[in-house]
Amino acid sequence: MPIATVNPANGKTLRTFDELGAEGIERCLAAAVSAFRRYRTTDLPERARLMSRAADLLEEDQESIARTMTTEMGKPLAAARAEAAKCVKAMRWYAGHAEILLADEYPSDTEVKDSGAAHARVHYRPLGAVLAVMPWNFPLWQVVRFAAPALMAGNVGLLKHASNVPQTALYLEDLFRRAGYPEGCFQTLLVGSRAVEGILRDPRVAAATLTGSEPAGRSVAAIAGDEIKKTVLELGGSDPYVVMPSADLDRAVRTAVTARVQNNGQSCIAAKRFIVHTDVYDEFAERFTARMAALTVGDPMADTTDVGPLASEQGRADLEELVDDAVRRGATALCGGGRPKGLDEGWFYEPTVLAGITPGMRIHHEEAFGPVATLYRAGGLDEAVELANDTPFGLSSNVWTRDKGEQERFARDIEAGGVFFNGMTASHPALPFGGVKRSGYGRELSGHGIREFCNITTVWHGADPEA
Ligand code: NAP
Repeated sequence: MPIATVNPANGKTLRTFDELGAEGIERCLAAAVSAFRRYRTTDLPERARLMSRAADLLEEDQESIARTMTTEMGKPLAAARAEAAKCVKAMRWYAGHAEILLADEYPSDTEVKDSGAAHARVHYRPLGAVLAVMPWNFPLWQVVRFAAPALMAGNVGLLKHASNVPQTALYLEDLFRRAGYPEGCFQTLLVGSRAVEGILRDPRVAAATLTGSEPAGRSVAAIAGDEIKKTVLELGGSDPYVVMPSADLDRAVRTAVTARVQNNGQSCIAAKRFIVHTDVYDEFAERFTARMAALTVGDPMADTTDVGPLASEQGRADLEELVDDAVRRGATALCGGGRPKGLDEGWFYEPTVLAGITPGMRIHHEEAFGPVATLYRAGGLDEAVELANDTPFGLSSNVWTRDKGEQERFARDIEAGGVFFNGMTASHPALPFGGVKRSGYGRELSGHGIREFCNITTVWHGADPEA
């Protein structure tokens, strides 16, 4: 895939970039190692000062970087502005909390004595250069949610961003440089996915994090496994959105639309499978479909647009195949199901609701990365839980019920990294984010995220018998 900015709203190539060659990669790896040698010894107040400065600069750049993101991958401009603001918040959160999250931990006196020590503690040290392979869908946020904790922990970052968001990728390197980070602390490598193996196998790279598709995750994890290097994988999702009879149906319907079409439907944590109790199914289906059909699809730069284009022509083709397969096998499109009329230049797709899904359809077990919702009718609680778990993925989940017993049951039994009641899944710097099953492993954000790329070190001092 060429490294280029191609506007998905009209298919026009705006800028192309030369891929970094072997010499350039070597230069970056050498710079990363040399930067790590010095940066690892900086104290946390100094790291917090740098991170806060980066946050301030990003805040100033909000409008321009939002326009760049919208141009490169097509998300509505308002969503791009919100993404930049969210990054600022996370950077400030880690700047303010890292000292607590990485504070030394002390076992009890009895435990210390039992281990034969005079004193002992657990100390968090950085690992080194971490390779981040990132996707285009939240081109700023996915990177920042890795970079803010990783840099605060004293690691240095090597970013291999998706090939269709090179300007956002270069902006990030420039942001950290302007904030005052020493040369080599955060570098963007404009390389295609074929270069990842060589970089990851290089002994100067300590670990890797990948956010993206299952095949990419499998490949990076296999290489890292071969090299015995730590990885965090944030992969796809097909999150359930369960609606039970006690739900506030009005809010459940409105939130369902946002949960499905956020980011033009291309979010890992978008609700994708709508599992509705039979008592409220017909009403939910009618109202949800009416709202999905009423969305405005069009120019992502326009304030009036709800849903912009898909990020790539291939992405739209993949989505079309999934929908066509389902319809061919008997699903009904309650709305949408094709390309919107009058928007022939870009890679647009209609907001779509499919009913009558059966396990033989690809969409039942594959991720629909676009504004396509599937509807399921559940006869009761057990069936709702069963349907929610009937997927290879386990990223997050949304459940609408006011019944405390049902809430406990879903919180206990849904196989996912999150269960969000009476609302939609969203990430927050203080809450861990990540999945189980084929959605990946490891966690980002919160204390769990910052410790993923730490060497958790036991520091043990023997008791002096002379003392
Ligand atoms: P993708 O094709 O896997 O690309 C993601 C990144 O991986 C890009 O930088 C890509 O580079 C690189 N890549 C692709 N194949 C690779 C390989 N074999 N080896 C090494 N690197 C490789 O995914 P995408 O289509 O951009 O993103 C959509 C997917 O990401 C969806 O499945 C979505 O659910 C998932 N996602 C998950 C999360 C989460 O937190 N769990 C968040 C956002 C997105 P090139 O661009 O150069 O190919």
